Amino acid sequence: MGMMRQYELVDRVRSYNPNTDEDLLNRAYVYAMRAHGTQKRASGDPFFAHPLEVAAILTDLKLDDATIVAAVLHDTVEDTAATLEEIESMFGPDIRRLVDGLTKIKKLDLVSKKAAQGENFRKLLLAIAEDVRVLLVKLADRLHNMRTLHFVPPEKRLRVAEETAEIYAPLAGRMGMQELREELEELAFRHIKPEAHSTITKRLEEVTEREGSVISAIEIDLKEKLAARGIQAEVAGRRKRPYSIWRKMERKSVSFEQLSDIFGFRVIVDQLEDCYRVLGIVHTTWPMVPGRYKDYISTPKQNDYRSIHTTVVGPGHSRVELQIRTDKMDRIAEYGIAAHAHYKDGRTTELSGAADESRAYQWLRRTVDLLAEGDNPEEFLEHTKLELFHDQVFCFTPKGRLIALPRGATPIDFAYAVHTDVGNTAVGAKINGRIAPLLTELQNGDEVEITRADGQVPPAAWESLVVTGKARAAIRRATRAAVRKQYAGLGRQILERAFMRAERVFTDEKLKAALKRLARTAVDDVFAAVGRGEMFSGDVVKAVYPDLEPEKRSTPEARGESNGKGWFELRKGDNLKFKLPGETPGANAIPIRGLGGDLPVRFAPNGGAVPGDRIVGILTPGEGVTIYPIQSPSLAAFDNEPDRWLDVRWDLDDKTPQRFPARIALNSINEPGSLAQITTTIAEHDGNIDAVTMVRPTPDFTDVTIDLTVWDLKHLSAIISELREKRVISRVERVVG
Ligand code: MN
Repeated sequence: MGMMRQYELVDRVRSYNPNTDEDLLNRAYVYAMRAHGTQKRASGDPFFAHPLEVAAILTDLKLDDATIVAAVLHDTVEDTAATLEEIESMFGPDIRRLVDGLTKIKKLDLVSKKAAQGENFRKLLLAIAEDVRVLLVKLADRLHNMRTLHFVPPEKRLRVAEETAEIYAPLAGRMGMQELREELEELAFRHIKPEAHSTITKRLEEVTEREGSVISAIEIDLKEKLAARGIQAEVAGRRKRPYSIWRKMERKSVSFEQLSDIFGFRVIVDQLEDCYRVLGIVHTTWPMVPGRYKDYISTPKQNDYRSIHTTVVGPGHSRVELQIRTDKMDRIAEYGIAAHAHYKDGRTTELSGAADESRAYQWLRRTVDLLAEGDNPEEFLEHTKLELFHDQVFCFTPKGRLIALPRGATPIDFAYAVHTDVGNTAVGAKINGRIAPLLTELQNGDEVEITRADGQVPPAAWESLVVTGKARAAIRRATRAAVRKQYAGLGRQILERAFMRAERVFTDEKLKAALKRLARTAVDDVFAAVGRGEMFSGDVVKAVYPDLEPEKRSTPEARGESNGKGWFELRKGDNLKFKLPGETPGANAIPIRGLGGDLPVRFAPNGGAVPGDRIVGILTPGEGVTIYPIQSPSLAAFDNEPDRWLDVRWDLDDKTPQRFPARIALNSINEPGSLAQITTTIAEHDGNIDAVTMVRPTPDFTDVTIDLTVWDLKHLSAIISELREKRVISRVERVVG
């Protein structure tokens, strides 16, 4: 890359500012070139190339002469023999002030000790507040340093990249400079997460190769449709950047393949009304994806961003994200605060005048006011950081450790962010000293204390309730391990009984000797396979004792007698255990059926067992154990599969009474208020109705099915006999699935 020549710099400025002071630009060029002399950058390039590149970045933002000159001179006072006095005498007080501001913040080391960090950040904001052009030069300086970061020694790289991601990129975003923010984030991402960056980049290229033609098809189609309605619009398709894709993957905990909107379109129109006309055309051409429409025109973002966002299902079922806005909105979206600064050529830029419209300026002013009030730079830094990252929440451990989380995070996310073990054993939380549900949405500045209990397994349902990828993955791992352990325990019990039935000795050693025959590598694998129903106990017995006669098929009743033990008893601490709401703190909101997904024990659907019922468990491969009341008609289907039968019985804890789902069917006379009578009767007797279904309505009668939850069989029977007393009910009975 050749160094920019003197005339090139002048040409760049003149292209957007015909009244530029060429002489001033030329003097600055020569002054800085002489000052930097033979200094070299880490890349081996002459140092002077750097301030020139910084100035070039600012010409893209169409900034005034003073800003461009300040960019050319920004490193002279700190790094060369040049002085502020000399600069003032040659370039005037305005430029001196800018260079002074830049020199003051030059040595900012924001990722340093907390106190120093606070003080430095304060200096930075004060300098910006004095003249916002200082920030523009500073951001351009950082951008060029990030673009050339690969020349810097590796140990220094990460620190600079982190500082960029933590301070400069959000600051650019807060000032509404999206393009700059995105490039800074992208460059930082490359150095902070190199593997993630290269994987995503590679995948993106593959997708572009595969689907690139769809994109241009949409672009052409959209342009034609708009033109047909007489709307002048610029349509540009663009691919999302790796960083924004990575963030989405993290936030939603999805894989690259699950991401649907990798491509986006920007539609730029002249007039505000046209934005809504375009929206209408888009929504009548392709189906819109619900929940994705956002109108930032009527409600601008805090950084002045205005645009309409929507997502539609385009050709080939691909999701397409669209941003619709006017020219002017687009300029503000890209340049942010710089869009306000550039036409103030020749005047001192103060936070006044046209800037009053800008919400970004308002934020800056508010922040600076705060700065004047407070005297604790550390506190100030925390406060400003909180304001800076508005899509994040910052919380603290009781010891003051800062935990940054995405917005919407809960104490469960917090616990996992602290440590996986803390998350796995979390049973409760205190927020700012007060007990709070584990699903509370955390707010900025919350101090969170996690209560833990050993031997805890996170409920599987948490997985869908957390927002951080780390928590989700850890919960998945923990529940999988727990489920496997449960299956293995179950399998061992099944095998012990099978060997007993066959009147053969069973030991782990004997099983180990038969592993090869069973095509497994560990006894635990055999246990888990049997528990899951993937392997039958009879086959295992046969593998250990190949000479054994085949077992006679027996009925469950016969087995109950033959094993001589009657009901097979499960106690707390056994491997097969009822997972009930209430056993696991935080799970109160989860209905018992919802736990069936990952856990091996569940109740038969359509009318399950309640305490007091005699029950039996049926093992279903890959699903687990389903508990049926012994009178359930569904059990007939398993008569010839003795391996799947498990004798179980209730093991209830009196201290935490629990409701159980049951179903009743009744036939009611059709008259006003009859349904109300039924539901009132149930409610008066402490039954909780989950669902009411009315079937086969005839002129005179209605069949009603009610799913309700009760404490036990006695409670259910009491409700049924109360219902029988009602005149409007002709028949009522319990249904078991
Ligand atoms: Mn510099």
